[in-house]
Amino acid sequence: MAREEVCDIVVIGGGSAAFEAAVAARQAGAGKIVMLEKAPESEFGGNARYSHTGFRFAYDTPDEIREIIPDVDEDLFQTFHLPPYTRDDFLADLNRVTQGRIDPVLSDFMVDNSLDAIRWMRDVGIVFEPEQHPPINGKYYFEPGIIVHSVGGGLGQLLRWREIALGMGIDVRYDSRVVELHGNDRHVEGVRVSSDDGEYDIRGRAVIACSGGFQANSEMRARYLGPNADLMRLRGSVYDTGEVLNMMLGLGAATAGHWQGAHATPIDAGARDGGTPARADGHSNTANRYDYMFGITVNSAGRRFFDEGEANLSYTYAKTGRRVLAQPGSVAYQIFDQQGIRLFRLGPDYTDTYVEAPTIAELAPKIGLHPEVLTHTVENFNAAVSDDVAFDPSRLDGRSTAGIEPPKTNWATRIDEPPFRAYAVTCGVTFSFGGVRVNTAMEVINTSGRAIQGLYASGDVVGLFFHNYPSCTGQTRNAVFSRVAGENAAARNN
Ligand SMILES: Cc1cc2nc3c(=O)[nH]c(=O)nc-3n(C[C@H](O)[C@H](O)[C@H](O)COP(=O)(O)OP(=O)(O)OC[C@H]3O[C@@H](n4cnc5c(N)ncnc54)[C@H](O)[C@@H]3O)c2cc1C
Repeated sequence: MAREEVCDIVVIGGGSAAFEAAVAARQAGAGKIVMLEKAPESEFGGNARYSHTGFRFAYDTPDEIREIIPDVDEDLFQTFHLPPYTRDDFLADLNRVTQGRIDPVLSDFMVDNSLDAIRWMRDVGIVFEPEQHPPINGKYYFEPGIIVHSVGGGLGQLLRWREIALGMGIDVRYDSRVVELHGNDRHVEGVRVSSDDGEYDIRGRAVIACSGGFQANSEMRARYLGPNADLMRLRGSVYDTGEVLNMMLGLGAATAGHWQGAHATPIDAGARDGGTPARADGHSNTANRYDYMFGITVNSAGRRFFDEGEANLSYTYAKTGRRVLAQPGSVAYQIFDQQGIRLFRLGPDYTDTYVEAPTIAELAPKIGLHPEVLTHTVENFNAAVSDDVAFDPSRLDGRSTAGIEPPKTNWATRIDEPPFRAYAVTCGVTFSFGGVRVNTAMEVINTSGRAIQGLYASGDVVGLFFHNYPSCTGQTRNAVFSRVAGENAAARNN
């Protein structure tokens, strides 16, 4: 017989959703709370460890932003241009990018509680700072909705969460893999844990599953995400292998979200599998290739294959990786001239993983393309660019191509200022969209439509998104859902 422990709340996972649920449960009066993190201590924290942790929320006035970043100098704050991002704006973004498929009840719930969730994080002790943008004529222009990220990026946020959780007496256990859920499709009462000391059981009045998506499991990627999804490069934690999700489905949990969908972005073709750590200054990692709207992207046949200027990066990056995956060899090349390079968000030389040449014909063989093919693509593209509309990288400028397929809808400028550069990219997977179904109490719902008593979920293990994702919504969803999951789990009586 495995040894058995008893506690109030078991939280599965050691990422941001798990810490948030555990802390909320403690604040709501739960006694003994045990967090079970599969990763060793040196790699705890799930995907947030690799993340910038930008946070999207709805607000109406600059005063509501000011509350979140009280430490910013008042003179500096007065230079911030902060257009409103209302609940209707946030909901419209969610509906547009998910092609109208997002659950309306859960999306309303997330949006309506987004500002309160970030206030709660601030009150608990998470510190935020403004996104960094270069000033234009002494003013800082922010993209509506994504104004702040946590200090120190994802790792900074995780270290802070851990300090807060330990300070509250929450028991955080590393190298502790949940291998079984005890219960059935009506009631869950505990878990079995595999640890260095062998297997043991923990019973509690509630279990909160915050075990992430299945994106680190190449077999599940191939099974659910479509052709060659097993070849995607992993951007985050290697520990998100989906077994707790499978255990919940095995008990009879209902599914939600897009099971063939995943957040997938263009990343450096040479990036290591398993995540490039985020930069300590809070910027996302340097394996990202997020400047494609300032150039063109071609496949290994030298052809463009998507509209690089469709919309702001925040609304295209999470679906662009899939487009690269579908190309021959699952690689593509982002081509820039000096005008594009000068606009790179992390600066022109944030990475040296490119090839460069004085002409497009000389660039082509460096990426394995025939000079005439790439020259033809670039000349065709340049000929389709019109100067009727002024180029303005700070907004959707409507400066589009004419007469070519696919078009470039915004920011279309000729690629004609040498030297030219090519960056090889592949598809990086961030997190899977398919997961369990929950209600607004964050109870997991079974296939008969009833809540499984004692089982709650939050984070990427919850099915929510379809097709695409507006940037920085994962952290928002975690905070909103985990806070509720923790409070309801704490309030539960057996
Ligand atoms: C590179 C990158 C950049 C990102 N940037 C942003 C951003 O700027 N803004 C934003 O909102 N989102 C961002 N995201 C997404 C965001 O980080 C995730 O959506 C979020 O961290 C998911 O949180 P989670 O706690 O649900 O899952 P995770 O953070 O993945 O945590 C899951 C946890 O469960 C543990 N686990 C898994 N299986 C078991 C088991 N059997 N037993 C015990 N523990 C288990 C894992 O070890 C891990 O600790 C980014 C992600 C990446 C990878």
